[in-house]
Amino acid sequence: MITRTPIAVHCEEVVPVAPVPDTPTGDWQQQLRDVIRDPVALCRHLALDPAWILGARTGHELFPVRVPLAYLARMRRGDPEDPLLRQVLPLVAESDAVQGFVDDPLEERDHTPRPALIHKYPGRALLIASPTCAINCRYCFRRHFPYADNAPSMNEWEQTLDYLRDDDSIHEAILSGGDPLASPDRRLATLVKRLEAIPHLKRLRIHTRLPVVIPDRVNDALLDWLGGTRLQKVVVLHINHAQEIDEAVIAACERLKAAGVTLLNQSVLLRGVNDDVGALERLSERLFEAGILPYYLHVLDPVAGAAHFDVPDDEARQLMEALRQRLAGFLMPRLVREVPGEKSKTPL
Ligand code: SF4
Repeated sequence: MITRTPIAVHCEEVVPVAPVPDTPTGDWQQQLRDVIRDPVALCRHLALDPAWILGARTGHELFPVRVPLAYLARMRRGDPEDPLLRQVLPLVAESDAVQGFVDDPLEERDHTPRPALIHKYPGRALLIASPTCAINCRYCFRRHFPYADNAPSMNEWEQTLDYLRDDDSIHEAILSGGDPLASPDRRLATLVKRLEAIPHLKRLRIHTRLPVVIPDRVNDALLDWLGGTRLQKVVVLHINHAQEIDEAVIAACERLKAAGVTLLNQSVLLRGVNDDVGALERLSERLFEAGILPYYLHVLDPVAGAAHFDVPDDEARQLMEALRQRLAGFLMPRLVREVPGEKSKTPL
């Protein structure tokens, strides 16, 4: 692992910071409103050395801080190397211009035939069902995505649904975002009803981090619309480290499975978070304990601001080889890269 060097500053200011409850209470929407949005508050809640504050502010200017309290509660106080904190703590390195790291690394803007619709791969199409996330992950490949241009009006949503109706080669609708589960249940229930009325759609896939970062999101209302649809249901979670999976996450996963959902996980290989074989082994083991199958381990998409998370391909392959020596085959994620223009993920 590399050690990040904070920018040394003398921070004498006193910032009032509310105490963080050990167990966040309230419904998920309240928890969404209560997320930490202030980089200084994040540093102070975790008792970090004030030397981290300047970097946190610099990175926050480029991509704002968002951290739910339920996620924060799983971090170690006073430890800037905590693998959960590393995923959300802005750094001054995010302002570095690094060759090859760009705003739209997957060239998604070339594959949006309708507002909020990305159609890159045969057989499936992706809907941007929400422009926001509960958490802002610093390595996110959509950290520069123009969500404001992909917030369709009712009329534009009709055009998007028409596109799906008119192409009977599309069998799977993928709800993505942002985080699609950041949308209210009533809105999602209506959207899923419209989708299931399209006869050639067979599957509904949801890419989400919300059951991980705010497990209370898996509430009765969600289970009603998700469990009630005729579509086969797959939820692809995004978990990068075993420490993210606490008892509340396991309980949320059990409720999803009881509603007939297949649970998969995709991770990103991140320098300083999970770039050692022990961390990857514990992640796969813990995922399976929670009833989730390891699916993909992505190498980092080269998005501007995230170059410090990059792990070279050779090192990634060596890690996978070492992992293979330790895990049963069904616990091995597939190491992949998303290459713009390719019709599927590219195995490494
Ligand atoms: S939850 Fe997913 S979409 Fe949202 S910031 Fe994190 S990686 Fe990006």
